[in-house]
Amino acid sequence: MDQIDYCIVGGGVVGMLMARQLTLKNPDTSIVLLEKSSYLGEESTSRNSGVLHAGLYYPHQSQKHLLCRKGLSLWRTLAPELKVEINHCGKWLVASSLSSVADLENLFAQATKNGVQDLRWATGDEIESLKPFVKIEKSFLSPETSIISPSEVVRALDRELTNLGVILLKKCSLTKVTQTNSGFDLMTTQDSFSAKHFINCGGGHAPTIRKQLGLHDIESVWVKGCYLKLNKKLYNEKLIYPVPPKDLKGLGVHTSFDLDGQIRFGPNTVDCDQYEMSVPDDLVDMMYPAIKDLFWTVEKKELALDYCGIRSKIKKDGKLFTDFLIQSPLENYVEALGIESPGLTSSPAIVEKMMELLS
Ligand SMILES: Cc1cc2nc3c(=O)[nH]c(=O)nc-3n(C[C@H](O)[C@H](O)[C@H](O)COP(=O)(O)OP(=O)(O)OC[C@H]3O[C@@H](n4cnc5c(N)ncnc54)[C@H](O)[C@@H]3O)c2cc1C
Repeated sequence: MDQIDYCIVGGGVVGMLMARQLTLKNPDTSIVLLEKSSYLGEESTSRNSGVLHAGLYYPHQSQKHLLCRKGLSLWRTLAPELKVEINHCGKWLVASSLSSVADLENLFAQATKNGVQDLRWATGDEIESLKPFVKIEKSFLSPETSIISPSEVVRALDRELTNLGVILLKKCSLTKVTQTNSGFDLMTTQDSFSAKHFINCGGGHAPTIRKQLGLHDIESVWVKGCYLKLNKKLYNEKLIYPVPPKDLKGLGVHTSFDLDGQIRFGPNTVDCDQYEMSVPDDLVDMMYPAIKDLFWTVEKKELALDYCGIRSKIKKDGKLFTDFLIQSPLENYVEALGIESPGLTSSPAIVEKMMELLS
């Protein structure tokens, strides 16, 4: 392969949208997208709740807040372009006990400050109608929150990138990257080539990849999130989320459902030092108390193991860094680090930011 214009490592939603944006901007540009798995989107992109978040939790003016709001708006145009459906279901945020009502009220204030639209408190009738499924003291609705099918997004982008002439190298790991006078030399498990620009969308592996470029200030922190599926019908008109823990390590065990209506509970939060995606055999026992706390009619025997994903958190200079970090620490190099939730929602906006850094 001759010198190409752009090499992107990572065929998750961020890397795929980046390849799409670069090609749409300049159809003559040459782009290689490297993905170590046999399929695109195999890591966190296909292993999440599929929720397009409204941006209500994140510190005001943080990258997570701003890029989530912008990403949600961009998905409304992008999804029809990709012919992918959005279910505008909305979500209830629920205080299940009197002791969590103050935290719910603070969350409502935070969401209002963050510009989340059309928020409103549940009426008495709505609370009564939720009581058969949910332990509920008080609740508010975020109508903007919606769901999308990550697997449909991946399939649509795979097709589109192929049609646009992006060179998709699947089952191809980047093994070495070196900066040179004219760009970057890259070694992979399939081929060696050079590129004028290098874009790191390696998800939970992005910090390891950048170390080869002499960048050592970021470390990966991985937190596993597992899901259980429910073998019965339950309320699934809207998503139901608890008041989240204060550290926002996760958003608390909540419902999610796919476009076929299959209900799941999750994800939990388990620190891990290996990037491995097995679901523990005793997951039902581990997660049942949190589920029962909110969804009081669910019985253990109605739950079955489902899948898990790994949240790509980071430490910067030894301290937990809780925001997205999108930057260009070297010429002709851009990176997306710490792209945990709401990364699926924010992905089109993350890519806009990366494009600005490249220009
Ligand atoms: C449990 C869980 C629930 C979530 N829920 C939501 C949600 O409801 N809504 C939301 O907005 N976000 C959610 N997220 C976050 C969202 O899934 C991620 O932010 C998003 O998928 C990140 O995409 P990515 O492209 O950065 O990373 P990834 O999808 O992880 O892609 C990185 C890719 O890089 C590849 N790669 C790495 N190293 C190499 C190498 N050396 N060579 C070649 N390829 C390499 C990997 O194989 C991988 O495919 C959730 C995440 C988790 C874990």
